[in-house]
Amino acid sequence: MSNLNIVPLKDWGFNFERPIIISGPCSCETEEQMLETAQRLADKGIHVLRAGIWKPRTRPGMFEGIGKEGLTWLVNAGKQIGKPTTVEVATAQHVEESLEAGVDILWIGARTTVNPFSVQEIADALRGVDIPVLVKNPINPDLQLWLGSMERLNAVGITKLGAIHRGFSAYEKSKYRNKPMWELPVEMRRLYPNMPIIVDPSHICGSRELIPSVSQKALDLDFDGLMIESHRDPDNAWSDAAQQVTPERLGEIVSSLVVRSSKLDDYAENKLDALRAQIDRIDNYMLEIMGERMDIARKIGEFKRDNGITILQTNRWDEIIQDRVKKAAKKDLTEDFVKDMMEAIHQESIRHQTKIMNNILAE
Ligand code: PEP
Ligand code: MN
Repeated sequence: MSNLNIVPLKDWGFNFERPIIISGPCSCETEEQMLETAQRLADKGIHVLRAGIWKPRTRPGMFEGIGKEGLTWLVNAGKQIGKPTTVEVATAQHVEESLEAGVDILWIGARTTVNPFSVQEIADALRGVDIPVLVKNPINPDLQLWLGSMERLNAVGITKLGAIHRGFSAYEKSKYRNKPMWELPVEMRRLYPNMPIIVDPSHICGSRELIPSVSQKALDLDFDGLMIESHRDPDNAWSDAAQQVTPERLGEIVSSLVVRSSKLDDYAENKLDALRAQIDRIDNYMLEIMGERMDIARKIGEFKRDNGITILQTNRWDEIIQDRVKKAAKKDLTEDFVKDMMEAIHQESIRHQTKIMNNILAE
C-alpha cells in the first residue's frame, strides 16, 4: 500500500468547519444564473461555491458546458459572496484556465478518475502548484483506481487531497442513480484516516427527494462534508435538473442535518465496550461455525469426487436460498443481505470442494 501524504482539511487555509458544504449549480449556464444562485446561497451555510464549466455528458448533443467564459462568472460570484470556488477539470487545459481564472479548489470527475492517462495529464499540469484537489470516485467500484489517482497527484506535490464519494454506476435499476456502496469510502477512511471525504448525495440520488436521508447518512458515517447541487430554477436547469434543489431548499437541508460526534466520553465508551464485547463474541462464534460448515462441505466434496458427481447441484442451491431467505425474513434480515451472505458462503464451499476435486486430478 502506498503512503499518501495528506494535509488535514483544517490546514487547507479556508477556516472550514465540519461538515463542510459545497454547493452551486451542476452547470454554470449564464452570468445571471451563476450570480443569482450564489447570492441566494450566500447565507445558507455553504463553505464553497461549485459549478461545472466543462460537462462530461453520456451522449453527444446534450449541453456540454459553457466553457472558459463561465470560469470568470464562477470566480466573480464566489468573490461577491466571499466564498472560495471549485470546478471540475478533466484536461491540462482545464487546469491551466482554472488556475489563471483564480479558482480555489479543483475536482476531478468520476469519468476522469477511471482514466490514468487523463489523471496523469492533470497531475503533470499541477506540478509545483499548491492547490487543493478533490478526487471523485471512479464510476466503477474500484478502490485501487481511486487511490491510484491520489498517488499520481501526490507524486507531483499535491498534498491538500480529498475524496468525493458520488456512488457507482450499475446496470440494474434501483432507487439511486449511482449505488452508494458505502463500504468503499469506509475502506478509504480505514486506510487513510486523514483523507477528507466529501459525499455527493446529488449524484448518488439522482432525484432531489432522496438527498436529505443520504446527507444524514454521510454525516453519521463521520464523513467530512457534502457536495450538493443547487440551482436558482432546478426544473429548468440545463443539466441534472431532477437532482438539483433551490438555494432555499439547500438551506433547509443543511439546517436539518444532525451533526453527531465520533468522540466518545467515558460513559459512552463503557456502554459501547460492553455491547462491542458481545459483538466480538458473536463474530468469533460465527467464524467457528463457518469453519465447521466448511469441514462438512469438504466431506461432501470427497463424496462427490469419489462418485463422479458435479460440485454444483442447482436444485439444492435454489432450495437453500429460498429456505434461508424465508427464515431470515422472520428475523427482520433483508433478502439482499441474506442472498449476499449465502452466496459468499457458497463460493467458499465451492472453493473448498474444487480444491478436493483438483487434488485427485493432480495425483
Ligand atoms: C458533477 O459534479 O456535476 C459531475 C459531473 O459529477 P460526476 O463526475 O460525479 O458524475
Ligand atoms: Mn451534475
